[in-house]
Amino acid sequence: MYQVPSSISAVDQIKLDISEQETFNLKERDICCPHCRFLIYKVYQDVSGHMRVRCPKCKRCYAVNLQMFRTMSRSTFVTLIRIIE
Ligand SMILES: [Zn+2]
Repeated sequence: MYQVPSSISAVDQIKLDISEQETFNLKERDICCPHCRFLIYKVYQDVSGHMRVRCPKCKRCYAVNLQMFRTMSRSTFVTLIRIIE
């Protein structure tokens, strides 16, 4: 069972509860490392903007536009790599 740490204030807990309720109908998508494909984050469909991520597997850092980095099939990924090369 999930236990709420005692360091979270009541106001923050209310914010967390509201945030959780707001995600009820949102889909999640994966942000994977562009180099090794390791799953870095799971984000909701309404997220936007840029984020600096560090892959815990290969230790590389990237500035990521969250609208551009979506989970893609292996065949799409291979096609994009062929276009770039
Ligand atoms: Zn990586």
